[in-house]
Amino acid sequence: MVLPGQLNPPNRLLLGPGPSDAHPRVLAAMVTPLLGHLDPYFLELMQETQQLLRDVYRTKNPLTFPVSATGMAGMETCLVNLIEPGDKVVVCAKGFFGTRMIDVAGRAGAQVTTLNQEWGKAFDLNVIRETLQKVRPKALGIVHAETSTGVLQPLEGLGKICQEFDTLLIVDAVTSLGCVPVLVDEWGIDAIYSCSQKGLGCPPGLSPISFSAKAEAVMAQRKTKVQSWYLDLSIIRTYWGSDRAYHHTAPISMVYALREGLRIVQEEGLENRWTRHLRNHRALKAGLLALGLEYTADPNHQLPQLNAVKIPNGVDDLAIRKRLLNEFGIEIGGGLGDFKGKVWRIGLMGYNSKPSAVFQVLAALEQCLKGSGINIPLGAGVAAAEAAYAQ
Ligand SMILES: *Cc1c(COP(=O)(O)O)cnc(C)c1O
Repeated sequence: MVLPGQLNPPNRLLLGPGPSDAHPRVLAAMVTPLLGHLDPYFLELMQETQQLLRDVYRTKNPLTFPVSATGMAGMETCLVNLIEPGDKVVVCAKGFFGTRMIDVAGRAGAQVTTLNQEWGKAFDLNVIRETLQKVRPKALGIVHAETSTGVLQPLEGLGKICQEFDTLLIVDAVTSLGCVPVLVDEWGIDAIYSCSQKGLGCPPGLSPISFSAKAEAVMAQRKTKVQSWYLDLSIIRTYWGSDRAYHHTAPISMVYALREGLRIVQEEGLENRWTRHLRNHRALKAGLLALGLEYTADPNHQLPQLNAVKIPNGVDDLAIRKRLLNEFGIEIGGGLGDFKGKVWRIGLMGYNSKPSAVFQVLAALEQCLKGSGINIPLGAGVAAAEAAYAQ
């Protein structure tokens, strides 16, 4: 066998739906020496990481820590710990990830009622309320930032509605944490999960979760064992709680990374970070519209960190994404599910929400669209972004 060559990844600007580029300080943290996962220094880092996470989630929940796996494991952790076979669960699906939640809840044994919304639109909370009144479920699952459509689901007030019917509110914040407000305590969220590789500017590999006191009480009253040993919070919490008892070997370097990523969030300030995402989104949006592209999401519910636009008629999706990657070193995302081949998804998440990324992608995309025969005035996208920044 010929020995594969030395690792030498090409330089890319990751402007898809994740992973986004990690902050250089995060990458530097990852090449520091390993420690044992029960080393006193590491135990301190764990505690600090948990507190930083609580701050970013805007919560006081003691049960807050990163699950050692990606965002999907966070989804599973929330569902398998809170649901027992036969429990009624309502899942709100308005895109690809909501649909996944239906599958995961079903596998956990839930009797799932699906509430559907057209892709590109957000749910009206009154419609959710009517369904809760009818079904009276144990839990409601909803995606905050639907990465497949670019829709931001308003959550303010939903916690109160859920409390009315004694329903647990489970939220997917995989693409929202670190980009837009996620106010766990104020919004009355009972269980929430996110990831490391989108808004937090770290590599993929961890899924920060947080559970409310009410969710803890529900778990304490379980009659059946959690179907997954690895994700059973009643056992993992002996490691991430005060006992620090061995459960699994924590991915040490990833915890270093997350801690550094969260430190950077704190240094910047959460509010400043939200403002930065909004400002760069406005500039990108002005540019994309000037290139003749149209957003898929309802204008009132657009995500700043994920810009989903319709691919113009007659333009070859794959050819353009390939050219962006090979000629310009820029990755953007294609469509998922119903939007496959119909939509491009441009992420400005965490470290990558910056003017240089906005100008690079607009200039490159203009070249590619022109190459596909689309008539665009010279520099229209970049000029519109510049004007938006000047405002
Ligand atoms: C990316 C994403 C996930 C999945 O996270 P992974 O880290 O890829 O496992 C789940 N939900 C939403 C809304 C996402 O955008």
